[in-house]
Amino acid sequence: MSFTKFDFNPKITAGIKACNYETPTPIQDDAIPAILEGRDIMGLAQTGTGKTAAFVLPILQRLLNGPRGKVRTLIVAPTRELAEQIHSDIIKLGRQTGIRSVAIYGGVAKMPQIKKIRSGVEIIVACPGRLLDHLNDRTFNLSKVDHLVLDEADHMFDMGFLPDIKRILKALPSERQTLLFSATMPSEIRNLAEEILNNPVRVQIAHSRPTATVEQMIFSVEQNRKTTLLKDIMAKTKMSSTLIFTRTKYRAESLARQLEKAGYAATSLQGNLSQQKRQKALSGFKRGEFKVLVATDIAARGIDVSGISHVINYDVPGTVDAYTHRVGRTGRASATGEAFTFASREDRKIIDQIERSLGKKINRNKNTEFTVEVPDNTPLGGKPVKKSWNKPKKNFGSAGGRRNGRPEGRGASSAGAAKQDQSPVGRNGRPARRGAAPAGAGKQEQPSGNYRKAGSRHKRKSRAAVLDSSFGNLFLNS
Ligand code: AMP
Repeated sequence: MSFTKFDFNPKITAGIKACNYETPTPIQDDAIPAILEGRDIMGLAQTGTGKTAAFVLPILQRLLNGPRGKVRTLIVAPTRELAEQIHSDIIKLGRQTGIRSVAIYGGVAKMPQIKKIRSGVEIIVACPGRLLDHLNDRTFNLSKVDHLVLDEADHMFDMGFLPDIKRILKALPSERQTLLFSATMPSEIRNLAEEILNNPVRVQIAHSRPTATVEQMIFSVEQNRKTTLLKDIMAKTKMSSTLIFTRTKYRAESLARQLEKAGYAATSLQGNLSQQKRQKALSGFKRGEFKVLVATDIAARGIDVSGISHVINYDVPGTVDAYTHRVGRTGRASATGEAFTFASREDRKIIDQIERSLGKKINRNKNTEFTVEVPDNTPLGGKPVKKSWNKPKKNFGSAGGRRNGRPEGRGASSAGAAKQDQSPVGRNGRPARRGAAPAGAGKQEQPSGNYRKAGSRHKRKSRAAVLDSSFGNLFLNS
């Protein structure tokens, strides 16, 4: 069934065509008619389901029938990247409508935001912290808002934004349409929904799983050998565009720097970067200028980049949802993709949970082609491992020989990369270093932990023994 059944204004239909949407997604099928009727919505769906267009299209239609030049829609999103993405979807879908939107978030100057709003936008897409700043400064008011969207409400709750949301709600008229979207339903979000939604229509998209076109694999590897394994995989695998997830901001930054040194066009996306650098990293990755993006969950959440060939969980995510979300960054729109997860002993429990949710075991790497040298003594975010340099661990059979005491990873990666799509780059255009934390960054990121010392002081020592990385003996081959 096509979008014609919704009877959108031709200016909106033009936007749908421009985006090449032919058939509504299930959430669009369910949500659009209800939103057009003016009903409140409780949407249980995550990013990737077509959720943005599900609320943007009917809101545009409703905004067409009313006064212009006033803020009539407020969309609140947890991260700057998601706010930007929603804003750019509004521009694409609403290009012909003349309806104007602005994205409001911290880390950039306030004044241009104020000027834009005062020039007469109809839609504000905002992160809670900066929006509240503006409301406190009384630079504009939200008294004419007819439509409120709370996107990724559970994520906002996780980030500690619930009190801010409640303050923002006080600045809005009580007569309004409210749409609340959340991937999960913790009790706090259920309570919030009960409080603010008026007889809502419930729209639920079944818990999504990574698509069948994504091949998933677990590499069982000890913490301190992850970087070596990563470089080895990257050197030997054809990867056109790779998204790597780490647990902390520091790990993302440090790993991106190591990969860049190894010759990869790599950068990081994490909350320690200024907004400008975050934007540069993301758009550079989207354009293919960076072939590798190392990101934290929070920075990467909601980002929509097509053509990612590989997702690598350098660190296993903390929740099943985060795993689904990460893995879903590849294999989009029926493309094929591979998702590799590096798991160590302490990840056993979450791996069990992920597999239970998937309803199947994830393949373990049995390919001895991927090798890990001993030792990779620069664990990201961990204490350097004290071990004898002379004796490989009993369990690990040697699969290679010495290479003049030079670390295999770096040389191999660069050489291999040259043969692959991952063209090595020079040292210019280094990924941004840790800069001043932008306003609100604390709320936009998980604590980074104190890993700098371990990562910077302990340089890798060379050793040539190359070991089989299919460390089934750790736990994961069972
Ligand atoms: P979202 O869940 O809003 O992040 O959307 C995920 C991706 O699906 C985005 O790239 C959208 O542009 C795309 N999309 C949304 N609706 C449709 C549709 N009806 N047909 C094809 N692609 C869509």
